[in-house]
Amino acid sequence: MSEQQEKIEQGNISIHTENIFPIIKKWLYSEHDIFLRELVANAVDAIHKLKQIGTVEGLQIGDDFAVEIEMDKAAGTVTVRDNGIGMTADEIRRYINQIAFSSAKEFVSRFRDAADPNQLIGHFGLGFYSAFMVADKVEIRSLSYQEGAEGAHWVCDGSTRYELRPFAKADRGTEVILHIAKESSEFLDQERLRQVLKRYCNFLPVPIRLGGEVVNDCAPLWCRTPSEISEEEYRQFYRKLYPLAEDPLFWIHLNVDFPFNLRGIIYFPRLNNEFDVTKSHIKLFCNQVFVTDNCPELIPEFLLPLQGCLDAPDLPLNVSRSYLQKEPQVRKIREVLAGRVAARIVELAKKDRESFVDVWEMIHTFVKFGMMQDDKFRSRVEDIVLFRTTHESGHTTLKDYRERASKDQGDKIFYATDEVGQASYVRLFNSQGREVLILDAMIDSHFIQFLEMKNPSLRFIRVDAEVDASLVDEEDKAADLVSADSEKSPRELLNEFATGLFGKEGVRVRVESLKDEQLPGLLLVDERLRRFREMTRLSGRDLPDGDDEKTFLVNIGSRAGKRIVELLRSGRRDTAELALRHVYDLACLSGQAFDRERMEAFLQRSARLLELVGAAETEEG
Ligand code: ADP
Repeated sequence: MSEQQEKIEQGNISIHTENIFPIIKKWLYSEHDIFLRELVANAVDAIHKLKQIGTVEGLQIGDDFAVEIEMDKAAGTVTVRDNGIGMTADEIRRYINQIAFSSAKEFVSRFRDAADPNQLIGHFGLGFYSAFMVADKVEIRSLSYQEGAEGAHWVCDGSTRYELRPFAKADRGTEVILHIAKESSEFLDQERLRQVLKRYCNFLPVPIRLGGEVVNDCAPLWCRTPSEISEEEYRQFYRKLYPLAEDPLFWIHLNVDFPFNLRGIIYFPRLNNEFDVTKSHIKLFCNQVFVTDNCPELIPEFLLPLQGCLDAPDLPLNVSRSYLQKEPQVRKIREVLAGRVAARIVELAKKDRESFVDVWEMIHTFVKFGMMQDDKFRSRVEDIVLFRTTHESGHTTLKDYRERASKDQGDKIFYATDEVGQASYVRLFNSQGREVLILDAMIDSHFIQFLEMKNPSLRFIRVDAEVDASLVDEEDKAADLVSADSEKSPRELLNEFATGLFGKEGVRVRVESLKDEQLPGLLLVDERLRRFREMTRLSGRDLPDGDDEKTFLVNIGSRAGKRIVELLRSGRRDTAELALRHVYDLACLSGQAFDRERMEAFLQRSARLLELVGAAETEEG
């Protein structure tokens, strides 16, 4: 009992707070597998430090660096072993007994102040002490790289007491031995450990061996020089990150050194129109150590659907999220990201217009959303925004649309939201050389509102909102001719009759001679009222779908319109009513504004009309 025992040092870990371990165990329970990340990251750091010192001091340190993870089920231990810099007893005193607790201490104080402790959990690296989330006893055996250094052995059973003694260790480096607690026995399983290593340590720069087998990729793609990487390698890397996803559309390789370090590869997945903007998909790393794949603080909201990985070594990623939000660097990183994404999109648009059209169809919602969120992003990409159009080019920018439009169109931009339902309107506009944009995505109604707000002279007008002057046939004076017996003009006659029929149903009537002989009537819906109604609906309030904002336009220039006037003139008002109601029904039907009752009435009237057609033919014949 001798010399050896005399050398054993016992002491209190200086944490200036009550026993921290119960808190660590309790509150970090949800993500307790991060202990392995913390220990392996320390081991990698230790190797990194040794390499640096070795270079500076010209030491012979060898080149077979690795971190070994070993599990011994019978002994109930998991060991993390490195051949890095090692620690002397004195360093253990300084780094483990004292300093190590600084972040843990901060955690405890934050945990006490936080309204919702769950918010803190997950991003609070406790470093070495996170070992106590899963172990009820932890040992360190270490031999420093320094010449003549003596090995040291440290033991702590999860209380604030520790023991430190000299230890005969042959190889340089550190071994951390965890005596796994009963309730954490899941970690006494090779597969479980492999899983955790794959998650957190997959891209660490030093070989990580589990049971002798390397589990990581030491040179992930984002650390390599972009010009030396083939497209296929980028795709392969994507498949590695997201094994189940389809190939990405395109990607951005970030390699920023100033004013901060930021590396990574951002992939544009094939997005559908409705993507989830509440969850981030980009994996965040700190010096190749995986930190999280959900860090919305760092990624601008509109970039959340993007995938890939970011390595931000300067960021204190192991701290709480509320802290991250206040970090000025975080804002800069967000700006860099948005800027690079905008630049890439513009580059694609300029490079090959044809292939960009295909890409556009998959990213337009994303871009529009981004423009509404971020004004800088908007100003960068607004010139390349495409709209589907009835013009032969298929897609157009707003600028090109306006250049093509004739002067008398002014700032009006005509659009349709439903190619089928609004087909007759679109045809009418097109027949007069008016180009119509097709804005049928969910986001478009917000987006045009936004564009109008940014550029108050713009006016988006849906094709069923008004009859443009160019569509009205001013030549057709016939409609206004008053016949010899000073009867009312056909226009007056039809107007009076139609107003009498529909006025009491709350539908406004307008009689107009359109440049389309086949189209007997149209339903017009006031643009502003319609938008207001849509907004109110979106906000969850229910408005009855009244006829109040609708105008029934009767085309007196159409053959059917003329026929109705003739019927009125010859006193066949019943047939005229039947026909006019039918015209109204057809107008509603094309806009799909039929409910059950109307459908019923429509079918009955149609049947009656057919009978009349039959009758007329027998009369004529
Ligand atoms: P952090 O890594 O954030 O500094 P830790 O509690 O994880 O905090 O570790 C405290 C210190 O202990 C480290 O900074 C390092 O100096 C030392 N240390 C921990 N693990 C090792 C190791 N495997 N080899 C050498 N030194 C280590």
